[in-house]
Amino acid sequence: MPSTGKAAVTEIFNALGGTAPGGSPGLAVTSPADGAQLAQLSQDSAATVREKITGLKQTQKNFHILKRAQRAAFLEGLSAAVRQQREQLGRLITLEGGKTAREGLQEADSSADVILKTIKDAELPEFGGMLRCKERAPVGVVGLITSFNFPLVVANWTLAPALLAGNAVLWKPSEKTPLTALGYKAVFDKAMGPYAGLLQVVVGGREVGEALVADEEVDLISATGSVAMGEGIKATLLRKKNYSCKPILELGGNNGVILSDKISPSHLEWSLHALLNSFLGTSGQRCTNTRRLIVHASLYAQAAAMLQQKLEEFVASGAITSPLSGAGNDYGYGPLVDRDAYERFERAKRQVVSEGGKIALGRRLLEGEYPDAYYVEPALALLPAQTKIMHEETFAPLLFVVPYEGDIEQAVALLNAPANAGLVGGLYTQSQKEADAFARLNQAGHGVINSPKGTGTPAFGMGFGGNKDSGEGEILNSADPLRAFTRDGQVSRIAQNKDIVMDRD
Ligand code: NAD
Repeated sequence: MPSTGKAAVTEIFNALGGTAPGGSPGLAVTSPADGAQLAQLSQDSAATVREKITGLKQTQKNFHILKRAQRAAFLEGLSAAVRQQREQLGRLITLEGGKTAREGLQEADSSADVILKTIKDAELPEFGGMLRCKERAPVGVVGLITSFNFPLVVANWTLAPALLAGNAVLWKPSEKTPLTALGYKAVFDKAMGPYAGLLQVVVGGREVGEALVADEEVDLISATGSVAMGEGIKATLLRKKNYSCKPILELGGNNGVILSDKISPSHLEWSLHALLNSFLGTSGQRCTNTRRLIVHASLYAQAAAMLQQKLEEFVASGAITSPLSGAGNDYGYGPLVDRDAYERFERAKRQVVSEGGKIALGRRLLEGEYPDAYYVEPALALLPAQTKIMHEETFAPLLFVVPYEGDIEQAVALLNAPANAGLVGGLYTQSQKEADAFARLNQAGHGVINSPKGTGTPAFGMGFGGNKDSGEGEILNSADPLRAFTRDGQVSRIAQNKDIVMDRD
């Protein structure tokens, strides 16, 4: 096993060319993989948030007046530096996020890719010998708040377009994963040279997030987290005097998938296999996990038995191990993030039973080896109808399975029923009519039909954002990435002859 605890953190920050962060009294950061303490960090306060914003504004003025192409060149350098440090950033994601080594590396690579994709998507194609671009005014200072489960890549969905548009960014990562953000900041400082001051990281929990949102000089909020976080942020914004931008809120989901009876036996087998990917990914701690399976009543018993068998085989294979072992499994299934997450899982299982359902699997694992880490078997919750607990996002590996009677419209009504079912909805069918009806009626921001990865990889490249309780504001990672980070109503469309040499100054 590679080193863990504070020693591992020191090793990583040395390799990044920085010093391991520390401070006392502070925020204790522990590893979900083995419960070891990784760091004690000094926490920010409303006063240090304020100080950091003053510095950001200074750098932003100088960066904003550069040409877009010059800003893009700095960001290309940042992307290359992230790729160069993929091993260290990936290790941080594994250590403090509990993801497998492969997932950690993938997240570092995707972060580097997002930066380049943003630069490319922001370009307009040449037309009639003219270079063309849209010039929109940056908003100024973007306040970025992120969740623990994608500690790097989701931040880059905001960082890349915000910076390319000429803004500065104040980032508050999750209190569970601040080290990845601080490691990224070390890479950023080296890559961005004179513009290192465009990004500042603040450390702490909800109170620090609230101070960031409340600061009158933060011009736009881009935040990813639970529905409750979104509500909290909106309440704080209402109290601000000068806030004029619509916040970008990427919030919790409650993704459902319909399994129709218009399906051959081989397609049923394939669909359940596909579904397992999005149920088990990151142990149910992704916003895109499948949480509800709505099965035609005629197939219910068969589908439930097949799923249970697949899960029992997965558990028996011994593939659920510490991500620090380097072994892992294809699903990226590892520990729950902390004791709170484990208790939520246990509470939800009890509620299923009290609402008339049955639980299969779901026992705690590896407790003797890791008493302070929380590994569990994935659990199936077999319910006769869509009860209250199914309206909540448990954020753990718990799949609710309920039957539907009647036609696709009834199934989609169940799919759409929870207010937080606004991220991804899915359907497995071999009926084109059902597929068309689903496409018309699905209320989630994304719909996937016969997806090989369930709700897990929804239409990437088409932007990502939720409807209903699952999100608000502009969507991230879209084909017009700068729009969300620039002011409305101040757009110039510039076309310039590429053949005229501009060298007179
Ligand atoms: P969380 O809501 O507990 O915390 C998210 C972040 O918000 C943290 O940095 C936290 O400190 C901060 N925060 C919480 N309340 C705040 C407030 N009132 N004001 C300011 N900041 C506040 O979420 P989590 O447990 O870290 O992450 C899991 C949640 O994130 C799930 O609901 C998941 O679905 C969601 N998520 C959504 C997406 C998406 O793209 N829609 C992506 C990833 C995660």
